Amino acid sequence: MLFTTNGILLTRENINAILSYKGDLPFIGISLNACSAGTYRKIMGVDAFDAVVSNVKHITAALSKQGRKTRVSISMIVMKENLDELPLLPDLVHGTGAASVSVRAAEFTSSYTKDWFSSDEQNIRLDEKLLRAFERYVGEVEGRCAALGIEAICKEGHSVMFSGMCNELFDFLGIRNDGETFACCSGAFIPMGNLRDCADFWALWNSEKRQHMRTCIVNGDIPPECRHELCPYWRTRKNIDGFDAKSYRCSFQLLDTDAGISDAGLSVTGEAAISLRGRVTNSGNKTWSNTGLDRAHFFRIGGHILGTPRGAVLKELRGDMKADVHPGETIDFDLSVDVSGLGHGTYYLKLDMVQERMFWFEDRWSSPLILKLRLS
Ligand code: SF4
Repeated sequence: MLFTTNGILLTRENINAILSYKGDLPFIGISLNACSAGTYRKIMGVDAFDAVVSNVKHITAALSKQGRKTRVSISMIVMKENLDELPLLPDLVHGTGAASVSVRAAEFTSSYTKDWFSSDEQNIRLDEKLLRAFERYVGEVEGRCAALGIEAICKEGHSVMFSGMCNELFDFLGIRNDGETFACCSGAFIPMGNLRDCADFWALWNSEKRQHMRTCIVNGDIPPECRHELCPYWRTRKNIDGFDAKSYRCSFQLLDTDAGISDAGLSVTGEAAISLRGRVTNSGNKTWSNTGLDRAHFFRIGGHILGTPRGAVLKELRGDMKADVHPGETIDFDLSVDVSGLGHGTYYLKLDMVQERMFWFEDRWSSPLILKLRLS
């Protein structure tokens, strides 16, 4: 059994439970993603850096006491916020007793707001200078790890890491808390059935679909289900180094609203919500699916309310589309804009398309519609 965790719940009690497992436990991976408490809090959203480091020390000591050969590995997914801490990783890991470090740059596919990135500015892949610094630091990490006798798994990047063939279908199954399972951790969220519907785990693990996909892989092909921008192997195969700048374009038109409307924008007096009716055109070259795979990556009308045109987001908005929208097509939509609790003043309403769990179109070089919003 391979075991991956953020380490927060690796308490003594849980460590004992893990140690009581009688089967093979060759690997425990712990996502740390920072080398200081402040950066950890910023990235992971909780104040648990010291606790995780201490938990790692406990588990490595307990495994060694039990004579287990389990390899404990600490991973760091690198983005702008933690890039400069990367060279500190080997010594930190050495101090915990872990045997290996794993480093790679965060993928632009990870998420778009609440997970890795809140904006593309954090993505080192999109910044030549940051990417070069990352490569330099990776070299330093490998050198220091060699000196400390720690394994370094840093061979990363599309050209190296994904140039071979995917083995996730053979050794990985993503299981969500509702029992839904997914083929891999690429972010493509290829649904593989629900555990609750299966009497036997092995039936699902070796399902016809999975076996068919495995056969494709063994034959050197990428399974049709996987031919998706989110699959790093497919991206590499197709030499897609990022998203095509023309793929995700939209243009908005405001049709009607119950707010007062003038050249200066919208004005509302004492309302908790504004109703908007608008029209959006798909001026890119991708179809916007309003359902998507397992509703994981579907497209929606979105928006932000900001204090200044490029200021902090005060509210985030969503509106469903009634149908898929193909390139060149236009669709009308209704959007309720919640302005409750904002107080009197001038704000900015930014309307944009969003692909859930991925990105706002603005982050893919599309121009949102920005309206001044006056609340009194
Ligand atoms: S989507 Fe890519 S990473 Fe996932 S199983 Fe398919 S080939 Fe492998």
